[in-house]
Amino acid sequence: MSAKPYQVAVIGGDGIGPEVVSAALKVLEATGIRFDFQSYDAGDACLAATGVALPEATLQGALAAEAVLFGAAGNSAADVILRLRAELGTFVNLRPAKAYAGVDCLHPATDMMIVRENTECIYAGHENVLTPEVTIATRVITVQASERIARFALDWAGQHGRTTVTAVHKANVLRKSDGLFLACCRRVAREYPALKYEEALVDSVAMRMVLDPGQFQVIVTTNLFGDILSDLAAGLIGGLGLCPSANLGPRHALFEPVHGSAPDIAGKNLANPTAAILCGAMLLRHLGEPQAAARVEGAMEQCLAAHETTGDLGGKLSTEQAAQAVIKRL
Ligand code: ATP
Repeated sequence: MSAKPYQVAVIGGDGIGPEVVSAALKVLEATGIRFDFQSYDAGDACLAATGVALPEATLQGALAAEAVLFGAAGNSAADVILRLRAELGTFVNLRPAKAYAGVDCLHPATDMMIVRENTECIYAGHENVLTPEVTIATRVITVQASERIARFALDWAGQHGRTTVTAVHKANVLRKSDGLFLACCRRVAREYPALKYEEALVDSVAMRMVLDPGQFQVIVTTNLFGDILSDLAAGLIGGLGLCPSANLGPRHALFEPVHGSAPDIAGKNLANPTAAILCGAMLLRHLGEPQAAARVEGAMEQCLAAHETTGDLGGKLSTEQAAQAVIKRL
């Protein structure tokens, strides 16, 4: 355990973001690991109050911290989370989708890691209105980002006992951009002869994930396809409230639930904090505290198995009570 407290920047953001982040912080504190949590503003409410969705102080706080825990941003998400990911240089968005005992879900055999490229594709921000009736968006795919994400996915698979990595693409239509992405994945995969490397079209992967998600272990894909497939995966395991994610780069790490601000349930103490708590476990592992991470995951799994959950999963607990249930089982 570190002698000094870990410096963690906390950005609750909008909607249910602050509620689920507060639940995760309580669980992190209950591990006994020492943290110095610094809270910062960002998002729609911040924009309304200050005129900026991502204040400079928030950005600098995130850059200075050892890790960032982020809740959700509403309509200003593009100005907040996309900018944070870019400024922090987090080139990978790691999105696990794992079915849990006790949670009613479509496919109990689901246990996959979606490795989403985080810096380019259609999210590069090159969107234009040519005429009032014609708009264009430019999809950016580069060798550097594609090789980097492929290498990350293959390394991750090897380090976590996975045997197969699937590169997901649409190169039959996007011949140049996804053609380049695939060529890069293929080239990098040759450096990993111990792993099975496969390629599959994104539309067919969507169907196969619904029918039999157990056939996928690690998916590596471009930004937009990764975004869509990870929501699909969330649906397979029982909903958005369960899925954490990690944005990782060479120097910084930001952890955020896959879900958004869910304005329909915000402020009601109804939001499921599971995704945010599991983000806390990913954060612990990133900080070099694997045992504490495993304790949090274990306690969370026990709660889910015992139906000690929020209403979206059929339980009766509030956000706060769900966090306390995890703390009791730590
Ligand atoms: P945003 O625009 O910020 O993405 P959204 O409501 O469009 O917000 P999500 O927040 O991702 O999208 O969620 C969609 C719906 O799923 C929510 O309206 C809510 O009903 C449900 N949901 C999402 N996250 C949770 C959660 N943690 N707990 C319970 N329900 C959730």
